Amino acid sequence: MSDAYVQLLDAAIAHCEALRADGIEFVPVSAATFAELSARPAAPARATRPPVSAAPATRPAEAKPFAFVPAGTPDGRPATPPPASSPAPYTPRPLPASVASRWGQAAQLPSPSVPKSSAPAPAQPPLPPPLAPAAKQAAMDELRTQALSCIKCAHLASSRTTVVFGVGEIHARLMFVGEAPGADEDRQGEPFVGKAGELLTKMILAMGLTRADVYIANILKCRPDTPGQTAGNRKPTADEMTTCTPWLHRQIDIIQPAAMVALGATAVEGLLGKTIGITKLRGTWQTYRGIPLMPTYHPAYLLRNQAPAEKRKVWEDLLAVMEKLALPINAKQRAYFLPKP
Ligand code: SF4
Repeated sequence: MSDAYVQLLDAAIAHCEALRADGIEFVPVSAATFAELSARPAAPARATRPPVSAAPATRPAEAKPFAFVPAGTPDGRPATPPPASSPAPYTPRPLPASVASRWGQAAQLPSPSVPKSSAPAPAQPPLPPPLAPAAKQAAMDELRTQALSCIKCAHLASSRTTVVFGVGEIHARLMFVGEAPGADEDRQGEPFVGKAGELLTKMILAMGLTRADVYIANILKCRPDTPGQTAGNRKPTADEMTTCTPWLHRQIDIIQPAAMVALGATAVEGLLGKTIGITKLRGTWQTYRGIPLMPTYHPAYLLRNQAPAEKRKVWEDLLAVMEKLALPINAKQRAYFLPKP
């Protein structure tokens, strides 16, 4: 096998791994390409490559605040085995000096920098004036009624069981935004009720909150259809997101949370119009129409990649959100998923 072919193969694998980290599990392949790929040997020898060492055992030694279910079918998607290679070494993000002294941890890293987008994000319209509590409830009820009968995407309206509008406290200070309903959500009419939803609930509980304290919604309100398939999910198309996100923007107009968490790359793209990979963007504060927005991995990604370092990254993002909201944080919470000394 030539060096050029090996380089090309490595680049393709790296690209696919980045897509998977962004929550994307399927990519379109033409029939001709599929036939060509299928014709290649299943496991060609790569004599020019150095041997890859076996992945170390990285399972946590004890129960953690949001323990993970075995890799399976998060949100109804087909099971995806965890990557065979070991995760890259990860050093925890530093704590602010004031917090570090309070909790006895040294701030050991420079502040993370925000990656630059190749294309400028669209201008964000300002939020409307906040509503009084009673008016808020009436506005949300009316919006929900309108959304439940939406047929703007004829293909999704005909394949869905129900519109998955959103759930939680409309006066919440914290809002989570995900991608789109899966099979479980489509059946139950509530976002994040599948395996990924169970994990999100554990993450919220680890923050000292409950699902009833926050608001949870998706970029897309209807389950993306998968014609010809009885199971599986797909990422919403750009057209579907453009068509549906006005519902979400209006929900946020009404709720006006103090902070938001975008779960996965699709949520970031739908809210900010940024297509930067979530691996680069997570952990860096963004702004959605004046509201601080923390991008982090989608829980479905953590179901597939259960490395403690990946869990710690998400937990650090949630710690930053807790700091932003001035929520109490104890020493045990600070230490979740850190390597034992
Ligand atoms: S995805 Fe959104 S815009 Fe499309 S039909 Fe469903 S609710 Fe309407």
